[in-house]
Amino acid sequence: KGFWRLFKLGVSVDRDPGKDFLHVSDALLEEVAKVLEFPVASMLPAEAFTVLRKSFDARKSQKEPKFVYTVEMDVDKLLNMEPRTWDFISRLEPKIGFIEHTPHERVVGDLVNIIHDNKKINHDEVPGENGHCSSSSSYKLPLTKKPKVAVVGSGPAGLFASLVLAEFGVDVTLIERGQPVEKRGRDIGALVVRKMLQAESNFCFGEGGAGTWSDGKLVTRIGRNSGSVLSVMKTLVRFGAPESILIDGKPHLGTDRLVPLLRNFRQHLQDLGVNIRFGTRVDDLIVENGHVVGVNVSDSSGSSQFSSEKLGFDAVVLAVGHSARDVYQMLLSHNMELVPKDFAVGLRVEHPQELINIIQYSKLANEVRNGRGKVPVADYKVVEYVKGDDNNVPFTSHRSCYSFCMCPGGQVVVTSINPSELCINGMSFSRRSSKWANAALAVTVSRKDFNALNFHGPLAGVEFQREFEQRAATMGGGNFVVPVQTVKDFMHNKLSATTIPSSSYRLGVKAANLHELFPVHITEALQHSISTFDQELPGFISDNALLHGVETRTSSPVQIPRNPDTYESTSLGGLYPVGEGAGYAGGIVSAAVDGMYAGFALAKRLDLYEDDV
Ligand code: FAD
Repeated sequence: KGFWRLFKLGVSVDRDPGKDFLHVSDALLEEVAKVLEFPVASMLPAEAFTVLRKSFDARKSQKEPKFVYTVEMDVDKLLNMEPRTWDFISRLEPKIGFIEHTPHERVVGDLVNIIHDNKKINHDEVPGENGHCSSSSSYKLPLTKKPKVAVVGSGPAGLFASLVLAEFGVDVTLIERGQPVEKRGRDIGALVVRKMLQAESNFCFGEGGAGTWSDGKLVTRIGRNSGSVLSVMKTLVRFGAPESILIDGKPHLGTDRLVPLLRNFRQHLQDLGVNIRFGTRVDDLIVENGHVVGVNVSDSSGSSQFSSEKLGFDAVVLAVGHSARDVYQMLLSHNMELVPKDFAVGLRVEHPQELINIIQYSKLANEVRNGRGKVPVADYKVVEYVKGDDNNVPFTSHRSCYSFCMCPGGQVVVTSINPSELCINGMSFSRRSSKWANAALAVTVSRKDFNALNFHGPLAGVEFQREFEQRAATMGGGNFVVPVQTVKDFMHNKLSATTIPSSSYRLGVKAANLHELFPVHITEALQHSISTFDQELPGFISDNALLHGVETRTSSPVQIPRNPDTYESTSLGGLYPVGEGAGYAGGIVSAAVDGMYAGFALAKRLDLYEDDV
């Protein structure tokens, strides 16, 4: 009875239905029959089986590349469906990694449904004059009517926090310094085509946050199968993401899908009554007796609709991402505790996508067909541990060098928010059809590295980032031109000749010796790791592989301490630091999950629901 999960069901490329993720094909039923030891695959009804996960496995250790499935079998459905005796069911036994019994179907809804099922009170029944909060803290939120919460930042963390709070009936104001996606798209176009950077509307700032004009990978290291990740994914599907993201082993959206999804998300928030203020920057917190009671905002759109305003709130969720360095400074001015955090810096490498397809798939590379074929555009993931140098005192620590934010069929983009600092990242569209593959090659850095360059204090990591962003801008000669070097020349510490391979980066590249960028131990870690990566991916060191400088914003250089249960700042009451900028997330999904949990924690504090969800 109940459900059985069947794992590691391999289907060859020629027999697989390709991008039809939900389809239980005859070839898949044959694999199911083998695992169940059922003699006639064609007798198994496809309706009793559901595809839970599908990945493409092209590892060299495999005899041939294949699609690998996880499938769920609904025993009740099977028994009710046919007047046959399914003897094999009584013989089924769990086998670790291959067959697993689950008594109940796993039902994880999207957030809207989850909250509707758990809501303690409806929107009209919010606490009145004597509303109390369930927090153990002695501070009681001054609730006189519907609780009023500001969410600062409309990245994944801010959007999901707003969604949860608004679904619970909170009066939410979502404050975003950047522009809605329609206008932001035009600003990004002007940057890429005419090199006109809008300081407040760019690849980092604006609706959807840093994740909008991104690669839109939805992979996460926080547990792909956890209920929280699944409910975030289902919420994305609710707003327009394809259902395949629930099943794909490496789910990906791409900018073209993210933009309409964000419009739907916005519409839903507005339908719930959320007041969304684009082009509005939070410049300061209003603090009374150690508690945040509001924010000072100013018009960041340049339209001078207002100069500045004071807005009062019962609580403020701070979801500003890690490029809002002015916010870190502002928090320090309130004597808030900020802690420097390890992160990673490096270069972005770009190869022709065809080369990566051939390295990964050999003959099967033809099946990629520019993103339209059966097999996915090839990616890679590499990591190398680099031993520290015991004679070189500040750098005795071991480091990792790893590929990060790999964008198959993508392009390198500029993520600077001011022209004197140059930093880059990667983005793609849903088909991943560009002729380039790019990835950051990042080396871990810590407080020792910051101190060695004389950067101390809570923002030492930010200063460290800025140092290399400024060096890269100078090496490129300004105007967002990126310094580049072929991988081969980087390995030999030699300037690349005037004919450098083409790059997807649209604002111009200039040959430079990237050895002059980082301290020598980081450069050596990169060199050492690249030679190892070439053994794993023969051809990685190629005349056509181009390194771009500089990748500095792999994750936040700062953490804002908070209470792990209530999500409230340990320095200031009423402030809820969330997402990547607060140091609690490192990607779209983890930021969304963090925002979601912060929303629940605050809703609980506001006494809007009782149980843990
Ligand atoms: P953010 O997304 O940074 O959002 C913060 C928001 O706050 C911004 O919109 C900003 O304008 C706003 N804000 C800042 N200061 C203020 C203020 N004072 N007042 C009002 N508003 C303010 N991650 C992945 O998982 N997969 C990917 O494929 C991927 N690709 C990426 C590609 C690029 C080009 C970039 C830049 C990042 C990429 N990332 C990717 C990382 C991912 O985008 C971030 O981890 C994620 O967006 C962090 O979410 P967040 O909500 O914490 O912050």
